[in-house]
Amino acid sequence: MTTRKVALTDKAVISLNPTPCPKCGNFREFVAHSDYCAEDCCNVWVECGECGFDPTQEDTGYRLEDVWGGCGDNNIIAAISCWDDALRESAK
Ligand SMILES: [Zn+2]
Repeated sequence: MTTRKVALTDKAVISLNPTPCPKCGNFREFVAHSDYCAEDCCNVWVECGECGFDPTQEDTGYRLEDVWGGCGDNNIIAAISCWDDALRESAK
């Protein structure tokens, strides 16, 4: 498992427009995780960097699936959009 702390720049916040954390309202700091979920597949997801809230914990179907995984910028951007999807779904 790899993890990486991310603090979004103002520009990244504007372009990604992440949904604020429902627990603490943070939308700027995240901790990205990458872990194997199968032999040839990794899950990449982000948790709140302030309180550790993980909207994909209950339903890992929202996590990004990637063959190589890793916490590179592109995977983090994709994982933040998964965070948005998971939160939007749970807000319904
Ligand atoms: Zn939070």
